[in-house]
Amino acid sequence: MKITNIKTWLCDAYRTNFAFVKIETDSGIVGYGESSIGQFEHAILGMFKDLERKIIGLDPRDVDKILHDLNRDSFWRGGPVLSSALSGIDMALWDIKGKLWGEPIWQLLGGKMRDKVSCYANAWFVGAKTPEEFAAKAKVAMQGGWKALKWDPFGSCYRDISTSELDRSLACVAAVREAVGKGVDLMIECHGRFNLESATRIAHGLEEFDVMWMEEPLFPELQYTMPDLRRKINVPLATGERIYNKYQAMDFIKQGYADFIQPDASKVGIVDMRAIASMAEASGIGFCPHNPMGPLTNAVTLHIAASTPNFFLLETMINDVPWRTELSDEQIFVEEGEMLVPNKPGIGITLREEGLEKHPYKSHSLRHYRGDLTAIRPEGAKEWFTRNSNTYGK
Ligand SMILES: [Mg+2]
Repeated sequence: MKITNIKTWLCDAYRTNFAFVKIETDSGIVGYGESSIGQFEHAILGMFKDLERKIIGLDPRDVDKILHDLNRDSFWRGGPVLSSALSGIDMALWDIKGKLWGEPIWQLLGGKMRDKVSCYANAWFVGAKTPEEFAAKAKVAMQGGWKALKWDPFGSCYRDISTSELDRSLACVAAVREAVGKGVDLMIECHGRFNLESATRIAHGLEEFDVMWMEEPLFPELQYTMPDLRRKINVPLATGERIYNKYQAMDFIKQGYADFIQPDASKVGIVDMRAIASMAEASGIGFCPHNPMGPLTNAVTLHIAASTPNFFLLETMINDVPWRTELSDEQIFVEEGEMLVPNKPGIGITLREEGLEKHPYKSHSLRHYRGDLTAIRPEGAKEWFTRNSNTYGK
């Protein structure tokens, strides 16, 4: 069996663009992968162009060897562009292997630990600006069955936080906690925006709200001060969505950066996601994959969650662009805040190429720090999954 061709697409996703890859083989089996990073999309396509000549002619079943050699021979390892492109290839190779054996990827990874994957909701707050609006939307999300909610209440704060900004942010957390009660877990997202002094003050303010975790409190460049922050505060910490491989995860674990690790399958790939999960298990760290990207990353992460003993919680964007259904035959079922594990061979999703071409690349800005982050969805955004399981497995 040989790889004969690769094809790539960028697809408008309103605030970002999805990046997809298809690997074709001489057997007629094709594999799909996702390399979305939300920016540098042309660099991703360029990276695929550079990697293409290295993988044409290889046997796609040699997943570990292909990934190992591509990484080693790149010489300049790591970083978001190379890592995301390799992750797309990693997914596509597993997709091919699963289709070849007629089994879902979770079966190839060791079998199923669970039929349902516990999720926490993101994007439930679309359009909210005031604490009252966040509280009202949190109630709606809770009524929709979500048992854990994450959001970033920090507006345009950056590096330092004033007392009035801190009060405003904590008022938002208080309003949501009051709206949902103690039966819903809360995660507070910082998007890597603070220094040690600000993060310490914020964490002290968060203590009374009993949050599940405070996420990426510090600049990525200040990761080395995470252990100092942990010693000063009584709030659990989460980070790791900017980890690109198992070596960086080892650093995270050895240095004791956080209580929860959040690798992303579209940056890390299936092989290293599993390695990181095992390292986390042996270190007593919670494994909670970052998962705000497109349909293939979500499905791949479900396969990993299904088969990983120490999986805890999966991030879930609970709505998306109305054209998400045009991009693939994705069919995911949700019951009371849990996603059902897919059963089709491989990843279980086929991209609709005409749909991708109907929504080509558009220039977007991630704008985490401008104060308008809650406007992350267009008019008509909707749930992209099915809410009953009557047809599950059929
Ligand atoms: Mg995050």
